[in-house]
Amino acid sequence: MSESTDITEIRTAVRQLCAQYGEDYWLELDRTRGYPTEFVSELTKSGFLTVLIPENYGGAGLGVYEASVIMEEVCRSGAHAGACHAQMYVMGSVLRHGSDAQKQKYLPAIAAGDLRLQSFGVTEPTTGTDTTSLKTTARRDGDDYVINGQKVWISRIEHSDLMVLLARTTPKEQVSKKTEGLSAFLVHVGEAEGKGLEIRPIESMINHHSCELFFDDLRIPKENLLGTEGAGFKVILDGMNAERILIAAECIGDGRYFIDKASHYATERVVFDRPIGQNQGVQFPIARCYAEVEAAWPMVEKAARMFDAGEPCGAEANMAKMLASEASWRAGDVCMQTHGGFAFAKEYHIERKFRETRLYQIAPISTNLILSFIGEHVLGMPRSF
Ligand SMILES: Cc1cc2nc3c(=O)[nH]c(=O)nc-3n(C[C@H](O)[C@H](O)[C@H](O)COP(=O)(O)OP(=O)(O)OC[C@H]3O[C@@H](n4cnc5c(N)ncnc54)[C@H](O)[C@@H]3O)c2cc1C
Repeated sequence: MSESTDITEIRTAVRQLCAQYGEDYWLELDRTRGYPTEFVSELTKSGFLTVLIPENYGGAGLGVYEASVIMEEVCRSGAHAGACHAQMYVMGSVLRHGSDAQKQKYLPAIAAGDLRLQSFGVTEPTTGTDTTSLKTTARRDGDDYVINGQKVWISRIEHSDLMVLLARTTPKEQVSKKTEGLSAFLVHVGEAEGKGLEIRPIESMINHHSCELFFDDLRIPKENLLGTEGAGFKVILDGMNAERILIAAECIGDGRYFIDKASHYATERVVFDRPIGQNQGVQFPIARCYAEVEAAWPMVEKAARMFDAGEPCGAEANMAKMLASEASWRAGDVCMQTHGGFAFAKEYHIERKFRETRLYQIAPISTNLILSFIGEHVLGMPRSF
């Protein structure tokens, strides 16, 4: 199926923007652990990072499908979308669950690029994937909530004005369902740091700006509760399908990037007096990866269309994320193999993308957890946890 003119125009415009930030720009940031401030600012000012914000709040009012195409193109250009992708889906928590006052206060400022909502605080060191067992608490005290606990792997918080935080307001033992008693809050990072919030960067395999957070009697005003107290799991969950679809689209972009690089190199590189791509042992793995990436894309499209139509799309979003992340990882591996020793040279850029795309089999949800969702919720097999 051919794409609409609008989508083709979005692709062209994003490609043009990304072309100004070549692969050397991303390599230098990776080396220095820098943040792509100029890139993120231009992506925001051009309206791409805020496409999901409705027009009455200053955004373009487009859907997750268009947003997916944008993130795919960003990744296909060689960029690292992980530096900025969260704004798209974290913002959905405010859009769908925020009060009118919160929407008026935050959404136009986010759309204008004056406020950054890039951070999402869920994961904890002792409970990991078992989100409903998280131990960070929020206790109501007068007009404030008082936060205590710890988070880990919270990305981009040093480059964000706001964070959506998930904490327990009612102990797990006192609720009938483990998903109850959790609440979501908007935290003003600048105001909180040093006054009950400590941020410690984690040195990690990729330049993802992830941090550990320590909360020690951090006070946040009750007006910063998102949605109703005790129903925060739903606030977070609603954003998760969008997150999975967008990350799946990024993996498609990574996969297409690897296949472009591998097929070019296999055609140009001459060993034993002929292009290495003439050998089917080199050519076939690339062709197989192409088939796998292109087969994953329709699932991403389907999930995005369902999300935009307001249909339940948990299974499709999960399947899209699993298929696309596995396809991009295999394409990265084949791209490395095709480049031989040069794959390890940083100036070829492949090893950076290879490291970056590996993340998506673990975060934001690991493949095992997706398989367990499909096994239990789609196929009706016994629950395992
Ligand atoms: C670079 C990076 C950035 C991140 N950014 C953020 C962020 O911004 N915000 C945020 O909240 N989190 C973030 N995360 C956290 C990420 O979402 C978690 O790492 C991920 O959900 C897995 O949790 P865990 O690391 O605790 O693994 P664990 O839960 O400890 O799991 C470890 C392994 O065991 C498997 N496993 C666990 N239980 C089961 C089971 N019952 N059945 C089968 N297999 C199982 C998992 O699949 C996984 O492979 C980030 C992580 C990384 C690495």
